Amino acid sequence: MEVPDTFYQLVETACRDLYIKSLKEIPPDIVAAIQRAAETETKEVAKRIFSHYLQSIALGREKNMMVCQDTGIPIYWVEIGGNLRLDGAKLSDAIVRGTERATREHPLRSSIVSPLRRENRQTNTGERIPIIHYDFVRDSDVLDILFMPKGSGSENMSFMKMLVPADGINGIKRFVLEQVVGAGPKPCPPTIVGVGIGGSSDLCMTLAKKATTRPLGSRNPDPEIAALELELFEAINQTGIGPQGLGGNTTALAVHIESAWTHITCNPVAVNMQCWRAERRRARLWADGRVEEGF
Ligand code: SF4
Repeated sequence: MEVPDTFYQLVETACRDLYIKSLKEIPPDIVAAIQRAAETETKEVAKRIFSHYLQSIALGREKNMMVCQDTGIPIYWVEIGGNLRLDGAKLSDAIVRGTERATREHPLRSSIVSPLRRENRQTNTGERIPIIHYDFVRDSDVLDILFMPKGSGSENMSFMKMLVPADGINGIKRFVLEQVVGAGPKPCPPTIVGVGIGGSSDLCMTLAKKATTRPLGSRNPDPEIAALELELFEAINQTGIGPQGLGGNTTALAVHIESAWTHITCNPVAVNMQCWRAERRRARLWADGRVEEGF
């Protein structure tokens, strides 16, 4: 199915909208988890922080305001339906233009700078930014875009290690727990702790980040990995770090693990944390011009 030229305009507008709306409306699963935590926390300071989070969420929704000031690093996870015939370069250009338009038209703070000179184009774009991950879906007629504005507080708490096979699962558990405890308040807990296992060093870190985009309540389809998610989740919430690191029972909203097969002599593990606001937003686009948004 050949997409018309107007399709790229549709992508551009969708990416602009995803960026702006994701900063103002927190996904319902995250809101529900924060509400639950506010009700079940026993420590006064933790209850107070959760009530501030809920106020920020309500202000975002009711007054069309950003929930947090950080516009983040714009990241798009794009799944291209196998039945769509499109021009990949035009698709990437449309995503970049959508990012620039969101920044200019809202306007949004431009958080993106060159790494050494710290030059800021005021567009939230730059060399290799926005980050765009492409994947392909067999027998599908749609283009799915998942957007996340990754906040720096949580992104700075990213860690990876090439363990050796002899370190085994215990080595993986120890590494994840050490990073969460070491990070303390810095990633704005409670976090979604994304864990990547396997692959190469770069794939492992990408998997950790992708894991943070899964909706709360989802489980890895592999029962052994799902059990590890639960075990780590319970262990992390026993650390007492709590919201903003000020103490409490809720340090993580979830632990999500994504995995890939690896080399016989490798055992890579990566941790990427997502802060409490956990902003993400999706759009599904059809070649005939239909667009559906969600989380
Ligand atoms: S880590 Fe998240 S909640 Fe904390 S300041 Fe950054 S974007 Fe905001």
